[in-house]
Amino acid sequence: MAPITIQDVQTFLIQYSGGGTRFVIVKIITSEPGLYGLGCATFTQRFRPVYAAIEHHLKPFVIGKDVTRSEELFNMMLVQSYWRNGPVLNNAISGIDQALWDIKGKLANMPVYQLLGGKCREAAAVYAHADGREPKEVVDNVRKFQAQGYRYIRVQMGGYGGKADKMVKPEGALPGAYFDPREYTRNMLKMIDYVRQEVGEEVELLHDVHERLAPIDAVQFAKDVEPYKLFFLEDDLAPEDIEYFRMIRRQCATPIAMGELFNNPREWRLMIEERLIDFLRMHVSQMGGITPARNAAIHGNIYGVRTAWHGPGDTSPVGHAANLHLDLWAPNFGIQEWCRFPPLVYEMFPGLPEVRNGYMYPNDKPGLGIEMDEKLAARYPCTDEVDWWTQTRLPDGTPSRP
Ligand code: MG
Repeated sequence: MAPITIQDVQTFLIQYSGGGTRFVIVKIITSEPGLYGLGCATFTQRFRPVYAAIEHHLKPFVIGKDVTRSEELFNMMLVQSYWRNGPVLNNAISGIDQALWDIKGKLANMPVYQLLGGKCREAAAVYAHADGREPKEVVDNVRKFQAQGYRYIRVQMGGYGGKADKMVKPEGALPGAYFDPREYTRNMLKMIDYVRQEVGEEVELLHDVHERLAPIDAVQFAKDVEPYKLFFLEDDLAPEDIEYFRMIRRQCATPIAMGELFNNPREWRLMIEERLIDFLRMHVSQMGGITPARNAAIHGNIYGVRTAWHGPGDTSPVGHAANLHLDLWAPNFGIQEWCRFPPLVYEMFPGLPEVRNGYMYPNDKPGLGIEMDEKLAARYPCTDEVDWWTQTRLPDGTPSRP
């Protein structure tokens, strides 16, 4: 029997609101009438180079290839540019990889989680984001989520910045998203202490430092939050400073989550093998798709490290569907981040997973189980405005990690 081949690759750029999130969605059309797949290639801050990498480099390479050979195609796409890795190329590869898993599931008439090994659970527990300008507002928002059935809640105050109000800037300071790391740690400790006292021990609390601290301050912060028994502390250190995780491990038992900025197995391999982290937080499209995520999950499982795939608003709906299939299968699933899309996004992506009572459920359709209303999506094209929140500065104006 002649193989089913890739006939066309289409790349969709979608910005559904003024919030700055731009989705990059790949659609693979096959030689089998009506058979196609969708994949997430979303790198929201640099979506145009991803588009170019797919349309001008991967598309000519994959056209005519056998759709069933997703493993071989992933590995060849990884090396075929000679210069490899990085968020642009990995996201482009992910768009193709996820779409091929979607197609494989449709060919087998099975959901993707069945191809991975089948369900270990019926639904994935998710966590939502509670924020507030002061601790009481954070508590109010935690209680709103509890009332909706959420049992895992990330608590932040003033976004990632902590919004220092008494900051003294130099004369002539340039515009930017200013941030005081030391004040942040003091304010966050007070907030976490207050939230824990108010809501009790049953709620699982999480916190994301967003890699904004000097390494030694990050070590101190991990120790300081230990008594509050967080479910995890996320990105306490930047990828550039991961050696400091050894210091944290020697000094406290705060559970550590890390990985949304990783894109090369070298970045997570030693952290797993040295048992420096507890949760893998990789952004599945940024690592290259379902194929490398499956490998990392299996590697983590051998060492007792759980999964917690990145799932904010700049993971596309197709990416959230991919996360869910990995979550349902992985024996070492930990938790899934969830961003609560508005009704418009559900209309644009029929089959987008639903969350009820703190659990995300699959729809059990073949493949990834998600569709895209292309006519509706076309009404929301991407724009090129310059992102503001990523122009982070320290109090004296020094550019800093967002
Ligand atoms: Mg994060």
